Amino acid sequence: MKVVLASQNKHKIAELQALLAKHIPDIEVISLADAGFSGEIVEDGDTFEENAFIKARAAASTGHIGLGDDSGLCVRALGGAPGIYSARYAGEHGDDGANNRLLLKKLEGVEDRHAEFVCVIACAFPEKDEELFCRGATEGKIIDEYKGEGGFGYDPLFYYEPFGKTFAEMTPEEKNSISHRGKAIELLAKKLSSAV
Ligand code: IMP
Repeated sequence: MKVVLASQNKHKIAELQALLAKHIPDIEVISLADAGFSGEIVEDGDTFEENAFIKARAAASTGHIGLGDDSGLCVRALGGAPGIYSARYAGEHGDDGANNRLLLKKLEGVEDRHAEFVCVIACAFPEKDEELFCRGATEGKIIDEYKGEGGFGYDPLFYYEPFGKTFAEMTPEEKNSISHRGKAIELLAKKLSSAV
């Protein structure tokens, strides 16, 4: 089974391939470019689901099953921010340092530190209108200082109580076993194997 992930990120493609193959041995995950897509995707949705589906639909236009994902950090005391704007919270896309500094500043003196990471993977099919969504979420709290060297994004500030560690202190295997993305991929594997 061939699926196209709406991403050019080789790491994301390899990770999805490895995790899905545990459930669907003959799966092949390829990038948009490898599927011959050269258009532009405008991610202008208001929710994780909308953005993920915009990408999935673009990927499905190549004639294969299309997958799109969107994820982010939702902080309760900030009304769910940064949410879908997580990658560019401080302005520039992907500036993790600035995003983390801004998050700490906004939470200065705030007692409620509850947060959750959310990941939505949408699936679109070339010849049917069916929409399929897999949502994974993991709760934690935002701590005041950076802990750990691994991971990316908000990982050093996101403390996961059951393991007594931040996401940045976990091995990739530990993080995958409880992360929002790990949960969404697990669901996707189950739904995909029964959808086709
Ligand atoms: P994307 O949708 O996977 O590109 O993620 C959007 C943004 O959400 C990233 O740039 C990060 O700032 C944040 N984010 C999503 N997942 C994680 C995670 O597992 N750890 C840390 N930050 C994350």
